[in-house]
Amino acid sequence: MAAIRTLTRRVGGSMSGMSLLRPQHSAALFSTSAKAQFKVAVCGGAGGIGQPLALLMSMCDLVKEVSVQDVSMAMVPPAGVAADLGHIEYPAKVNGYAIDPSKPAVDQLAECLTGCDLVLIPAGVPRKPGMTRDDLFAINAGIAKGLAEACAQHCPNAIVGIIVNPVNSVVPLVAELYKKKGLDPLKIIGVTTLDIVRANKFVAEITGQSPLDIDIPVIGGHAGVTIMPVFSQSTVASGISVDRIPDLDKRVQDGGTEVVLAKAGKGSATLSMAYSGARFGKSVLAGLAGTPTTECAYVASSVTELPFFSSKVTFGKSGVEKIHDIGPLNAYEEGRLAEAKAALKVEIETGLNFAKTF
Ligand code: NAD
Repeated sequence: MAAIRTLTRRVGGSMSGMSLLRPQHSAALFSTSAKAQFKVAVCGGAGGIGQPLALLMSMCDLVKEVSVQDVSMAMVPPAGVAADLGHIEYPAKVNGYAIDPSKPAVDQLAECLTGCDLVLIPAGVPRKPGMTRDDLFAINAGIAKGLAEACAQHCPNAIVGIIVNPVNSVVPLVAELYKKKGLDPLKIIGVTTLDIVRANKFVAEITGQSPLDIDIPVIGGHAGVTIMPVFSQSTVASGISVDRIPDLDKRVQDGGTEVVLAKAGKGSATLSMAYSGARFGKSVLAGLAGTPTTECAYVASSVTELPFFSSKVTFGKSGVEKIHDIGPLNAYEEGRLAEAKAALKVEIETGLNFAKTF
């Protein structure tokens, strides 16, 4: 029971029935019922991350509708993914939408996006061996911009979760686009949850504790040295001997590369990312439904001198409700913070410079 309760907290952010358990089971276990009330879109929904992410979001009992969006030449037609998911015994209605990427997304996505409360964007090209997240920017920035213009037009109040890499640069460019349109840049949120998920799992492997009882804040950004786990703020991880911390820190930073290499050029992290994207998405929806929920996320921020930074963020009824300070750091972490900020500054500028071109 305790483990199930913790799992529910992990994937749903609250005890209000938003678990991976079937609703009748969670209702029986927790004596609560969640209302299917939100519309969610997954852009790139026929891709490696998109399909399992759409699956997990369609299994959230707060969700009444899921739009699976992709391009017309996707490996699997989004209508097929939607038909498949539409047979699962959860309340959500699932629809597929294919666009012609040679034409503006904004002109093709009115039905897909209108009424959305949350849009998750793993649309784009994944990293191949030898490619850095920055190499991806030229391709993925254009895709993200097109989809963001469509969100700005058709669901301007939706929370937009940016999964497409490089998150450190794509979020500033999309937030800038929102600002230029007079919209709230805090609707644009970089999804860094996978870094927290990995940190929790790797600490669990070292300490023998359940990962469900571990919650490592990971601050900074979402690439290389900008990924900064704050082990000292976890009671479990603070027991790990200091000489093991640099390797553990590096393993969290390189988690993506570990998967890229293991998949030998045939993809990057998809299943762990889908899990993490769903954990993030369900935390946002829990907040919108009235249960404030906190996750680390990469947003426009004033907690450091940088205009964007990832730290704990509380989601509430209108989205981002509070951006938390970094909290206490030890000497090793102070050094890492300086390193993370120096790298992040350059990556933010890449996004902001791109935004100057439109
Ligand atoms: P994938 O190639 O399997 O899927 C991407 C999907 O996006 C494809 O189905 C493709 O057709 C679609 N797409 C391309 N252009 C589109 C457009 N204009 N509109 C809608 N869909 C479009 O790739 P993947 O493995 O799912 O990775 C997707 C992205 O997520 C990559 O950029 C990857 O680097 C990133 N990623 C992020 C994290 C993170 O932690 N934030 C982790 C892993 C991967």
